[in-house]
Amino acid sequence: METDTIAAISTPMGEGAIAIVRLSGPQAVSTAAGLFQGKDLNNVDSHTMHYGKIIDPETGEMAEEVMVSVMRAPKTFTREDIVEINCHGGLVSVNRVLEIALAAGSRLAEPGEFTKRAFMNGRIDLSQAEAVMDLIRAKTDRAMDVALKQMDGRLSNLIHNLRQKLLETLAHVEVNIDYPEYDDVEEMSHDMMEQKTKEVHEEVERILETAKQGKILREGLGTAIIGRPNVGKSSLMNALVHENKAIVTEIPGTTRDVIEEYVNVRGVPLRLIDTAGIRETEDIVERIGVERSRQVLKEADLILLVLNYGDELTEEDEKLFEAISDMNVIVIVNKTDLEKKLDLERVKELANDQPVITTALIREEGIDQLEQAIGETFFEGDLDAGDMTYVSNVRHVQLLKQAKQALEDAQNGMEMGVPLDVVQIDVTRTWEILGEIVGESVHDSLIDQLFSQFCLGK
Ligand code: GDP
Ligand code: ZN
Repeated sequence: METDTIAAISTPMGEGAIAIVRLSGPQAVSTAAGLFQGKDLNNVDSHTMHYGKIIDPETGEMAEEVMVSVMRAPKTFTREDIVEINCHGGLVSVNRVLEIALAAGSRLAEPGEFTKRAFMNGRIDLSQAEAVMDLIRAKTDRAMDVALKQMDGRLSNLIHNLRQKLLETLAHVEVNIDYPEYDDVEEMSHDMMEQKTKEVHEEVERILETAKQGKILREGLGTAIIGRPNVGKSSLMNALVHENKAIVTEIPGTTRDVIEEYVNVRGVPLRLIDTAGIRETEDIVERIGVERSRQVLKEADLILLVLNYGDELTEEDEKLFEAISDMNVIVIVNKTDLEKKLDLERVKELANDQPVITTALIREEGIDQLEQAIGETFFEGDLDAGDMTYVSNVRHVQLLKQAKQALEDAQNGMEMGVPLDVVQIDVTRTWEILGEIVGESVHDSLIDQLFSQFCLGK
C-alpha cells in the first residue's frame, strides 16, 4: 500500500505560464497547511481555492504568493487528498515551493506516480492512464481531443463489451463441456462460438483500422511538398508555416539533425517532411534522385504537388503525377498572376479527381482554399472518423493485433473441426489479451514500466 504523501511540479498542459506544485496523499492537506499563511487549510471546504503565502518554515520568510486548491478524497484524480499550489513566479519559485513541501515531509513523486495512484485506486483504467500520457505529448488540439475521448473511456467501453461477449460465449461452451449429453447445446455452442468470434474479429479489425489515423493525429500527417524547381515550394512552405503556428522539434540521433516542422491547419496536424532538404537545395527530386524521392514519397500521408501556371506542363511534371498516382494528393497550381500557359484541363485529368487549387502565393492568394482542401481531405474523405474511437497507442495496437491473430486461430480451428474445448483456449487467450489493454490482467512489472514513462508531476 502506498500511503505516503507525494509531491511534484505539475505544469498544466502545454507548459503554461503558471506552474503547480501538486501534493497527493493522506498528509497532503496538513502538509500544505503547515506552509501556508492565509486561511487554515485544514478547515476549508473541499474543492475550494485560497489566496495566501508560502512561508519557508526554516527561515520564516515568505517564499511565494500562491493560490492553493484543496481537494479531498475521494473525488480527486488520485482518489487521495490533493493540494495544488499554483505559483505564478516562474520556475525558480516553483522549485523553491517544492523544496519546502519536501522538507515538510512529503516525498518527491516518481514520474507518472500520480496517474499510477489513480489507476491503483481504481479511478481510471490502464487505457485511460495511457491516454493521460498521450495527452501530455499531444501536439495539436485534434490530437488532444482523441486523447481526451480515450480518457473518457471510449476504448475501454468497447474493449469491455468485446470481453463480455467472449466471456458469455466461453460460459456457454463450459456448460456444453459439463453436460455433453445435450447434443443441441453442442450445436448451439458451435454456432454461437462461430458467430461471436466473427463479430469480435470484425470489431477488432475496425478498431485497428483507426490506428493509422490515431497515429497521424498524434504524430502529424506526413506531408511532402514536391514540384519542379522554382514553382513555389518554399513559398508554399513559408505560407503554411507563417499562417499557422509552427512547432519545431529536433530529432536527435539521426545522421543529420532533421528538423521537423509541425503546422496545425484547421485542426489537421501536418508534419512537413524533410523540409530542411527542400529549403537547402530547392529541389528534393534533384537532390536525392528519383528513386530515393519515391521512397520519401512512400512515407508521406499527403502530397502537395506544386505546378507553375505560367509554364507549360513538362515531362517531369507528368512523371511526378505518375509517382504519386495512388496517394493522397492536393495539386497546387501556383503563380496564377502570370499569363496562363499551363493546360489546366490536362492537369485536372492527371489529378484524377483529387483537388486542384489555384494560388498566387506571391500575393498571398488561394491559401485559404488550400487550407480548406487539406481539412477536407483529412476529415471528410475516407479518413473522416468524427465519432470513431481511435487507438493511438502502440501497446494497444500490438495487443489488438495479437487478439486478432488469436481469433483467427480459433476460427481456423472451428473450420477444421477442432473440438470446442480446444477452440476455447484461443478464445480465452483473446479475452486475456484484450484484458491487458484495460489493465485487467496485467502483472506488476508491466504497470511499473508503463507508468515510469510518464512525465514527472502527472
Ligand atoms: P521553389 O524553388 O519551388 O521552392 O520556389 P520558390 O518558392 O523558391 O519560388 C521561386 C520564385 O517564384 C521566387 O522568386 C518566388 O518569389 C516566386 N513566386 C512564388 N510564388 C509566386 C507567385 O504566386 N507568383 C509569382 N509571379 N511568383 C511567385
Ligand atoms: Zn524554394
